[in-house]
Amino acid sequence: MAKALNSTEQEKGSGNMSGDTTSEKAMGKVGIAVIGGGFILNSYLLGWLLPEQAFAADFSAIIGAVTLACPIVSAAVKDLIKGAGYVNVLVALATLAAMVGGNFQMAGVIAFFLLIAIIIESRTARGAQRSIEELVKLTPSTARKIIDGKEVEVQALDLKVGDIISVRPGENFPVDGRVLKGESAVNQASITGESLPLDKAKDDDVYAGTQNLTGKIEMEVTKIGEDTTLGKVKDMIMAAEGSRTPIVRIIDRYAGYYTITILMLAVVTWSFTQSMDRVVTLMVIACPLAIVLATPTAIVASVAAAARLGIFVKSISHLELAARIRAFVFDKTGTLTDGILSVTKLSPVGKTSPAELLKIAASAEIHSNHPTAIALQKLAKEAGLDLEKTGTAKEEHGKGVEVTIGKKTIRVGRAAWLEKMGLTVGKHHDDESHGMSVVYVASNDTVIGWIGFKDKLRNETSQILDDLKTLGIKHCAMVTGDRESVAKTIAADILIDEYRADCLPEDKVEYVKDIKKSFRVAVVGDGVNDAPALVTGDLGIAMGAIGSDIAVNSASIALMTNDLRRVPLLIFLSKKLRTIINQNLFVGMLFVLVGIIMAVFGELKPVAAAILQALSTVLIIFNSARLVRVGEELTLEESHAAQK
Ligand code: ADP
Ligand code: MG
Repeated sequence: MAKALNSTEQEKGSGNMSGDTTSEKAMGKVGIAVIGGGFILNSYLLGWLLPEQAFAADFSAIIGAVTLACPIVSAAVKDLIKGAGYVNVLVALATLAAMVGGNFQMAGVIAFFLLIAIIIESRTARGAQRSIEELVKLTPSTARKIIDGKEVEVQALDLKVGDIISVRPGENFPVDGRVLKGESAVNQASITGESLPLDKAKDDDVYAGTQNLTGKIEMEVTKIGEDTTLGKVKDMIMAAEGSRTPIVRIIDRYAGYYTITILMLAVVTWSFTQSMDRVVTLMVIACPLAIVLATPTAIVASVAAAARLGIFVKSISHLELAARIRAFVFDKTGTLTDGILSVTKLSPVGKTSPAELLKIAASAEIHSNHPTAIALQKLAKEAGLDLEKTGTAKEEHGKGVEVTIGKKTIRVGRAAWLEKMGLTVGKHHDDESHGMSVVYVASNDTVIGWIGFKDKLRNETSQILDDLKTLGIKHCAMVTGDRESVAKTIAADILIDEYRADCLPEDKVEYVKDIKKSFRVAVVGDGVNDAPALVTGDLGIAMGAIGSDIAVNSASIALMTNDLRRVPLLIFLSKKLRTIINQNLFVGMLFVLVGIIMAVFGELKPVAAAILQALSTVLIIFNSARLVRVGEELTLEESHAAQK
């Protein structure tokens, strides 16, 4: 998805699509360039074939030059009225200066190349728009709604939350929803960047823009339009494109002075040399097209590369900041570990049986998404237990859950939390639960047992901690609400500088504030339990954010998957973005500076200057396009894995 810098062929293709006015305008300019260019070429041919008929050649050149100048001047006038830009104004002045010189063939050639440069510039600036158009193409415009057991084709836009629709294999989902009937493999690469298909069955969530591969699915619509994950992604790309980097702000501030300086320089050059050639060359070469393109092309390319990898950046300033991060604070459960816990010990006290303990705990956790809750649900299901009906339920993030079952208040959570409520948590022998995460289960005021869980490190954890060090990260830390003994075991296995155990969410916040005093810090967590810490960090990175509004809202950067390898990749992308912007600006400024000096001293011809202008824009675009490929090895690897 989201390929920012399309080739011209693709652009022509989408330019033909109906209703796409911006690209129709661009097509109009291409048409004018072709026609005007034709007249100029014709003028050269005439001059060569019929040297004695100079009038014919001149006439063709005038038509060509005027044709080519029209769109340039009209763009400049529009900008002047809007007070928007200054570049088009400079380009127009350069074109007019060339015509004033009276050599219309030359003026035509100059106008031709400047127009080409403008076309390139205006199209590249539309990169974000185009990324979004590609996203829009991912959702079908019609859907099959099930009304009274029959499928009726309706407009996808008319779907409402709660409608029931059917999606056949090979089709993309038009909206977000929950599976009611059927089973299928779904490719979510368009959102997560991970092409490994996922199996979906009843009660699983499916997302707009992802592809249903193998089976027919009946689903209930849960989110439509802007509320879908894909809709959020669109918002993020738009926001990223709209946000300006500091360097662009500086350039904008001084742009007005630049135009005036160049005009004065032109006057000075004219008064000293009386050479129209030099003035025209100066005006042409001074157009800062390459500088203008330097930042936006790089930004759009990197946002697109990130999006392809399932990394969503809310503001470009966050993407820029990533390169300057020096410390990382990771949550443990579900971040460094895979968060797929398994129950390893059921330890009831008194008359309660292990099965009863499990049944009560699983019933209490029915509404929670916490890894412990999911592990309990899974085991209860495998054991074939019928869960109890629950009344009011309340989850305290990072502490536990409290529900009513019948007349009893059941609490499942960490020891400290229960103790704070005045319960006595009979401490068990530590040997019994060594290396296990433990939650206690209480019924009214008595603790009826504890449950031990085990978790394992993600395969990629060690590697990414290594990679981060290579990328210049000075300090990596782990914070967890889990017990000291578990944290210690995990920390011993990986290259981590520091860890904190038994943290409440507010303790995590304090720790992040502390680290912030010495380093610029990024916090990586699940975005739900860890939201406060994510917001505290200079950069908050939420993992597994697909479908979770809280995660997307609390983070500055959201990773749609749980693949930690995206974290070092993000830092790498950010550094590369900086390098490329700097290269572009350097090349652009050097080009203008050297060009101006050569022009003033008559070392450069006007036509050569115009050709150089067009070439410089192409150079900048190619340089920026290198960003699109960042992380390609990851996506390739994943799609190979998917084919196996
Ligand atoms: P981590 O920092 O390792 O991700 P959390 O902050 O999510 O851990 O939770 C810390 C501790 O709080 C857990 O180890 C568990 O004991 C308890 N806890 C949190 N949520 C729940 C829940 N829904 N059910 C039971 N215990 C919970
Ligand atoms: Mg957590």
